[in-house]
Amino acid sequence: MAEVLSELGVDPELYSGGALEVRTPITGKTIAHVHASTRQEFETAIGAAHDAFLQWRLVPAPKRGELVRLFGEELRAAKPALGRLVTIEAGKIASEGEGEVQEMIDICTFAAGLSRQLCGLTIATERENHRMFETWHPLGVVGVISAFNFPVAVWAWNAALALVCGNPVVWKPSEKTSLSALGVQALFERAVRKFSEAPIGLSAVLNGGREAGEALVDDPRVPLVSATGSTRMGREVAPRLAARFARAILELGGNNCAIVCPSADLELTLRAIAFAAMGTAGQRCTTLRRLLVHETIYDSLVDRLKQVYASVAIGDPRQARTLVGPLIDARAFELMQSSLQQARDAGANIFGGERVPIPEFPDAYYVRPALVEMAEQTEIVRRETFAPILYVMRYRDLEEAVRLHNDVPQGLASSIFTTDLREAEYFLSARGSDCGIANVNIGPSGAEIGGAFGGEKETGGGRESGSDVWKLYMRRATNTVNYGSELPLAQGVKFEI
Ligand code: NAD
Repeated sequence: MAEVLSELGVDPELYSGGALEVRTPITGKTIAHVHASTRQEFETAIGAAHDAFLQWRLVPAPKRGELVRLFGEELRAAKPALGRLVTIEAGKIASEGEGEVQEMIDICTFAAGLSRQLCGLTIATERENHRMFETWHPLGVVGVISAFNFPVAVWAWNAALALVCGNPVVWKPSEKTSLSALGVQALFERAVRKFSEAPIGLSAVLNGGREAGEALVDDPRVPLVSATGSTRMGREVAPRLAARFARAILELGGNNCAIVCPSADLELTLRAIAFAAMGTAGQRCTTLRRLLVHETIYDSLVDRLKQVYASVAIGDPRQARTLVGPLIDARAFELMQSSLQQARDAGANIFGGERVPIPEFPDAYYVRPALVEMAEQTEIVRRETFAPILYVMRYRDLEEAVRLHNDVPQGLASSIFTTDLREAEYFLSARGSDCGIANVNIGPSGAEIGGAFGGEKETGGGRESGSDVWKLYMRRATNTVNYGSELPLAQGVKFEI
């Protein structure tokens, strides 16, 4: 770990002797004591970011894009090291650790191009010799609060856009993944050293727990906070931001579902379900948590799934053959077991779910993903348990399936597996999935950066990453210019003096 941090250029003082204990879920052991930012450091960092904003907003956007492009180059060079750090801290298998860094590289490429395309509309005006148009201006300091399960990519989705839009970024990472944040900041500082126009304070990392996040949420110098985490966190953060009329991008819990129709290509469906339900040990916001299978294919699909669940390689995520790494900590294991018990009490038939002992790592929590057959969509199914539990239910007709699909408080990601065009289009229509992400013949997880990412209902309504999401990071001004010598008023109003 020290070797990786040194390769990334992280100062050892930042992760030794501090108050924040960091454990690796791979062994369950403590690997670092990260310095927890003090209240004074928060004050200084947000103040510096605000000062940086006053300069950065004046740098032409394509030049701002150049800094993000340079940062992307640093990420390319450091991809193996940063990917390894994500694996160590979050327990992701090696290809997913590196995949997360690739996502950062991709959003940097996207944002560098975007920096030449930040454009507003010209709108027809009802008045002669007038022109009406929109201008997009930088907004101010952007606060980012991130969750443990995407310790680097989520920050990059926000930061790359925020920076090209003219905004500095202050980041409060998950207290469980502070080292990854230090690694990212060190790489960003490398890019800054190659770019003469970057003001001091353009990016800061403030490590700490919930209180650190609250300090960011309550600071009037931060006009936008993008917060990723549980719905519980969103419920606490949203009213505080609303109280000071700050903008919020909320990316909260999901309870993602897939419907498998009789015409589905079952081989493809099986592979898609396996990755979506068991990948990242069930610890993605987009993890597949509910499966609705048509009664005519239910038994054969569930039998096949049980074979896959029985044989999936569970263990040290650094080993090439492993597909399911550890849960983040003991608490995650307890929550998983408690949800399984509630399902059992409701009459569920459970396959898997038990702890998988790894003799070298007695303090770590490895589990066999659980396949839980339910007769009904009970309360426990309607809740997000952040662990590899897939609830499976039967359905008779598509209307009933879509009703069950939408009958949960969350609205993040969804899929249908079918080769019937009518079923696919029904699912994507206004009567279909009520989620922010709706897919056909691919699982709900593993989004690309080019699209807008986020969900509805208790998932928070926020959007990050591609499409036109950049607009959330800018201030829109509507401009009207009168280039004539008359002063006609809109709507025919007369006011002669
Ligand atoms: P969490 O809610 O425990 O913590 C997330 C972050 O919020 C951490 O940095 C934490 O310190 C901070 N925080 C917690 N309470 C706060 C408060 N009152 N004020 C300010 N900051 C606060 O979540 P977690 O366990 O790290 O992550 C798992 C959860 O995140 C799951 O529910 C998952 O679905 C969700 N998630 C959602 C998305 C998405 O895009 N929708 C992406 C990743 C994770």
